[in-house]
Amino acid sequence: MAGQPTVIYSAASTQQAHLLKGLLEEQGIAASVTNDAIQLAGGELPLGWTAAARVVVAEEDAAEARALAEEFDTQTAHEPTDDDSAEPEPLADWADWPTCPQCGQRRSARCPVCGASRTDFRLADVQESAGRQQVFLKCDDCDDVIIPQWYRFCAACRHDFGNGIEPSQISAETQSAGRVSTYVLTGLVVAAAGLLLYFAWLFAANR
Ligand SMILES: [Zn+2]
Ligand SMILES: [Zn+2]
Repeated sequence: MAGQPTVIYSAASTQQAHLLKGLLEEQGIAASVTNDAIQLAGGELPLGWTAAARVVVAEEDAAEARALAEEFDTQTAHEPTDDDSAEPEPLADWADWPTCPQCGQRRSARCPVCGASRTDFRLADVQESAGRQQVFLKCDDCDDVIIPQWYRFCAACRHDFGNGIEPSQISAETQSAGRVSTYVLTGLVVAAAGLLLYFAWLFAANR
């Protein structure tokens, strides 16, 4: 049954079907568009195909035409994504960065992950929950998306923001962290020494 008309594409609109028809004819493939009205008259439509304009080619051209149609499809499918390209856009400066009411300097923020302090973390995301805004920033130092910790005092004029972290708190934090690791280290050394003594005793006992 060579040469039998074969449907190779079901378009969302007649206009789109004609676009593809033109594209196929440019490649030397004779194509025709069958639209809904004619198909409905034929009365043999599977459900769900009724609204679609279809592109028909001769059977021997079907494979090539399908490949072209697929290409056409991805090209046309990419067009509307231009509208929502806003999502993966490069991270921008946060326009609403809090500033000092006294001297206008940007308030210093600290990365809770790596401890870097900056006034220029870029904005990663803003989420609204229960009427409160949660800002997520991007720390370039450790490449993490962070919830910033704000310093209580302005770095330039010592203005007191009334809340936030104080530099003394941080040094206390790191000091206690250092102390913990010293304890752990001491514990390990004691355990290792105990093990050595045990082996020494075993060795001596076996002699
Ligand atoms: Zn200030
Ligand atoms: Zn960081």
